[in-house]
Amino acid sequence: MSTICPSTLNTGGAVTADTIIIGGAGHAGVQAAVRLRELGWTGRIVMIAPDADAPYERPPLSKDFLKDGSPDAAVLLRKASYFEDKGIDRVRGCIRAIARDRRSVLLEDGSRHDYSKLILALGSTPRPLTVPGSDLDGVHELKTHENASAVRAALTPGAQVVVIGAGYIGLEVAAAAASRGCETTVLEFENRVMSRVTCEVVSRHFERLHNSKGSRLVFGAAVTEIRGQDRVREVVTADGSVHPADVVVVGIGVRPLQELADESGVRVEDGIVVDHNSRTNDPHIYAAGDATRLIDDGVNRRLESIQNAVAQATNAANHIMGLAMPRREVPWFWTVQHGVRLQTAGLRHPDDTIVLRGSSEGDQFSILYLRAGRLAAIDTVGTLRDFNPAKKLINSGALIDPERAADPSVKLSDAARGLTTAREA
Ligand SMILES: Cc1cc2nc3c(=O)[nH]c(=O)nc-3n(C[C@H](O)[C@H](O)[C@H](O)COP(=O)(O)OP(=O)(O)OC[C@H]3O[C@@H](n4cnc5c(N)ncnc54)[C@H](O)[C@@H]3O)c2cc1C
Repeated sequence: MSTICPSTLNTGGAVTADTIIIGGAGHAGVQAAVRLRELGWTGRIVMIAPDADAPYERPPLSKDFLKDGSPDAAVLLRKASYFEDKGIDRVRGCIRAIARDRRSVLLEDGSRHDYSKLILALGSTPRPLTVPGSDLDGVHELKTHENASAVRAALTPGAQVVVIGAGYIGLEVAAAAASRGCETTVLEFENRVMSRVTCEVVSRHFERLHNSKGSRLVFGAAVTEIRGQDRVREVVTADGSVHPADVVVVGIGVRPLQELADESGVRVEDGIVVDHNSRTNDPHIYAAGDATRLIDDGVNRRLESIQNAVAQATNAANHIMGLAMPRREVPWFWTVQHGVRLQTAGLRHPDDTIVLRGSSEGDQFSILYLRAGRLAAIDTVGTLRDFNPAKKLINSGALIDPERAADPSVKLSDAARGLTTAREA
């Protein structure tokens, strides 16, 4: 499995006082740099990351990139020339420590870089599987372009592929494997797919989809061991079942990269704690993306999504440039499995009242999550028709008539009883 920081590093140049250092060159890091230049920051911007590749998009890595016939190259977030044109310096290196008293970061190669502001956009790292045999050849995680290239090369027709974890990434890999003619098994500890992020109706819909494409889904499956000599041969679960495997892909979640912040005394709580302006408890340090936890104004949440990374990075740049009105967006996310798109807005809660719009046996439907009569979240499956209207209704705190909302012939916006905001009620 890959490490986060390689040991061989190139050093960057010395930095001046008017320098914003961005740790990380993923979705949040790049957005912060882009936004700072858009807003007219004229000082230096130095983006430090260990990645060999130019900054690229992660979502395609578990989707189109794994498909047969898709281009080998990662989809770049920006062309390399963009960074040169905008005077954004990219330093290949890994931050090892933050000296807050000196306002500098120390890289693994020993070089020191001073900042006037620091934006931590370090992302997350896959949760490792810790059972015996998890380090055998043929066991993969999926985070980087390099990981995705290795998985893609292993998905040959007829290969026995075991995916551990039926979250978004595991299921996207399973879909790619099945479509490439692999014998695909998904092992999931819970009793349904995507249980953390969606309701049972949507889970069952996607389970039928995967089954119809030939994947085998096994629930209540706790992996206890991966066996093999030189490389993986089989995966064993707690009930003694043995699943033959040429390839194993582990997708059991991620954890925020918060150690650097923690060791320097920046507040962390399962994520670097930020407010709506992406400020940490150090006035010179901001954080954005998967590495963070937003705790502010009654909100306490950690999100792993492109929308969140981009919004938080935008807010960090805005605040540095004196725009102190943070964008407060309805969180949203998508996944595509066997060509079927699930797109979700808002954050559901298991106690929400569920309204089904359309038939979950069909190709297109939505699930509305109502809390105290208001729309709190939506899942759209196979259609985006309700997505934008739902986002507006979530934002406005509209009361919803559940009977009208359940009827797909009624426009979703017409199912609102009134646009009384939650605060007014
Ligand atoms: C395969 C895959 C598919 C996904 N699909 C979707 C999807 O469909 N929709 C969606 O919304 N989200 C998806 N996500 C999640 C999404 O990609 C993340 O939420 C997003 O990338 C978070 O952005 P980030 O900038 O916080 O972190 P990242 O994009 O992970 O970037 C972190 C950066 O920090 C660098 N870094 C780490 N440690 C150090 C250090 N010590 N020093 C310097 N640099 C460091 C890393 O090398 C990297 O450049 C997917 C993720 C993966 C892996």
